[in-house]
Amino acid sequence: AVEVHDVHKWYGAHRVLDGIDLTVQPGEVTVILGPSGSGKSTLLRVINHLEKPEIGYVSVNGELIGVRRHGERLKELSERAILAQRSRIGFVFHNFNLFPHLTVMDNVAAAPVATRKLTRPEAQELARELLGRVGLGDKTDAYPRQLSGGQQQRVAIARALALRPGIILFDEPTSALDPELVGEVLEVIKDLATSGTTLVIVTHEIGFAREVADRVVFIDGGRIVEQGPPAEALDNPRHERTRDFLSKVL
Ligand code: ATP
Ligand code: MG
Repeated sequence: AVEVHDVHKWYGAHRVLDGIDLTVQPGEVTVILGPSGSGKSTLLRVINHLEKPEIGYVSVNGELIGVRRHGERLKELSERAILAQRSRIGFVFHNFNLFPHLTVMDNVAAAPVATRKLTRPEAQELARELLGRVGLGDKTDAYPRQLSGGQQQRVAIARALALRPGIILFDEPTSALDPELVGEVLEVIKDLATSGTTLVIVTHEIGFAREVADRVVFIDGGRIVEQGPPAEALDNPRHERTRDFLSKVL
């Protein structure tokens, strides 16, 4: 499980996360919604240890990553422990972040080799399997620039899967795509969701959220305003702020 416990994060005097509590159980699909600047990306970055909270902590399978509570330093993880933890968390960005100079195959196979989890032939075999799973079995030798945005994002998803992470974080995975390419990426994510992968997805695709989310979390001003199953949080929200937001994105 991922537990975010009373996380506060400031940039200078600007409070970006204001006491976030969130638990993601194994196999659960959590969709995070909220207006621009509400702290969604920052929350994912804290979970992935790319940012440290000033207060509060994050634990992944019982291991702390945030490590400060009310200003008091509890424990500092070594750089090595942080890297080990991060390798168990997949991260898919809106702008794909593929390595432009590597083939599709090597984009997927590189990390398992670099982290010495697999030999090169094993990693290539896994990459072939994962690329097949995202519908790109025939693109292994292509370079990212030769692919459409939707195809690039599917490579990025295969790359995240290659480390066999316990959880995958998605930050607006379809926001940079032409509308006709959104569906193919959502299909791949839907497939992961139904196969029991733990997912945390920031997205404005409300129909998709309704279909795949076990839980929808609405964030505004660095706080969780509302959370619940889609039938509650999306179709019957209790808070005016949530209703207002949904009326604008629907
Ligand atoms: P969007 O929907 O536009 O992606 P978001 O909900 O993901 O927004 P964040 O990116 O988490 O929002 O940013 C939350 C706030 O923190 C914003 O006001 C942003 O300007 C600020 N912020 C984010 N990163 C930094 C940084 N590195 N330094 C200073 N301020 C930052
Ligand atoms: Mg963001």
